[in-house]
Amino acid sequence: MKKERCLRSVHLPLLAILCAWFVGNSTSAQIVGEALPPWKEGMLDIHQISTGRGNSALFILPDATTMLVDAGALGSRTIRHVDPRPNDSRAPGEWIARYIEHVHPVQDAPVLDYALLTHFHGDHMGSVGETSKLSSSGGYELSGITEVAEHVLIQKILDRGWPDYDFPSPMNNQTMENYRVFLKWQAERNGSIIQRFQPGRNDQIVLMNSPENYPSFEVRNVVANGQIWTGVGSNTQEHFPPLEEVPKKDHPGENPCSIGFRLSYGQFDYFSGGDMVGIPTPGGPSWHDVETPVARAVGPVEASILNHHGYIDSQNAFFVSTLRPLIWIISVWDSAHPTSAVYARLRSTRLYPGPRDIFATSMHEANKVVISGLKDLASDQGHILIRVTPGGSSFHVIILSDSDESLKITAVHGPYEAR
Ligand SMILES: [Zn+2]
Repeated sequence: MKKERCLRSVHLPLLAILCAWFVGNSTSAQIVGEALPPWKEGMLDIHQISTGRGNSALFILPDATTMLVDAGALGSRTIRHVDPRPNDSRAPGEWIARYIEHVHPVQDAPVLDYALLTHFHGDHMGSVGETSKLSSSGGYELSGITEVAEHVLIQKILDRGWPDYDFPSPMNNQTMENYRVFLKWQAERNGSIIQRFQPGRNDQIVLMNSPENYPSFEVRNVVANGQIWTGVGSNTQEHFPPLEEVPKKDHPGENPCSIGFRLSYGQFDYFSGGDMVGIPTPGGPSWHDVETPVARAVGPVEASILNHHGYIDSQNAFFVSTLRPLIWIISVWDSAHPTSAVYARLRSTRLYPGPRDIFATSMHEANKVVISGLKDLASDQGHILIRVTPGGSSFHVIILSDSDESLKITAVHGPYEAR
């Protein structure tokens, strides 16, 4: 509509000036080189935050409810890893908190309604060690999620283990001990609510402000700990056999226990599955493949983040051909994100027809040399924002600079039509 109005003019220099003025004064225009226009009521924003040190995504839901999924902060750094973004002058948890403060719909007192940890690995929750700083309260150490909470109040924390943290075996490493102290502190001092994520439900993550205005919005809990939604009602099935019948060497690790959920808004659907896997290690039991039954339940989506960062054991052919998204997001911190076989499946028009765009937060330079076709990435550096229009009928993907905190737009992709 805006373009048509401009084209009615016959005076070309005036036309150019008027168009520039109109676009520049439109608060929702997404212009390369300019700062991101703020979220508005009715929009769904999914920010894949680029820190280079693990996974983290901020969701601003249509009524301004906010949710953080993961706050990774790796404990080590090697040549395999990508550089920290914007730089290493702050810890990843602090960068994430500052990002939240910059884009949060409530600028004077930003609060996270939800924080969800897909699973208990350092690149998703943080990892504490000898050099970790203490919280201002002195009660626990800061890394990842505990560091985010140092800056932004979290109302509700969801994870796969509360309250026992004993599946598939008791979790008592230093980071988990610290996390449990943190949870106790948050509950007692801030009144935060801690819950175990329950597969099958669509009423555990809900709009907090005006759900009546957005009846098509839903977050469906799909999977955790091998308990998988069937796709019917709120029914689930146990995908893992009883562990007492399984040799210890075949017990599921942390990644297959990851939380997965599907977010829907009108025609738009998005999937996030933590570090779940779909390709068992050679000789491993077939039930180590979690992706296949998850894909059956989830069905086609518009956008999906890669499971396990696109590592060798993820995105099996059935998963790719069933979800068949228009947009793939890769959360990168290692040179194996993605592996070449995974990348080939993402691009395969045998697995599903039609176009698709693949975005990576921070591609490793070695990968650009080694993986053929990686030059076809829609973006290989920056924060990745999926901005869905009110009602969910279409969306853009906006790339934001991760070299500083300007949130300047470096590219705009779309619009994509939700199907
Ligand atoms: Zn991971």
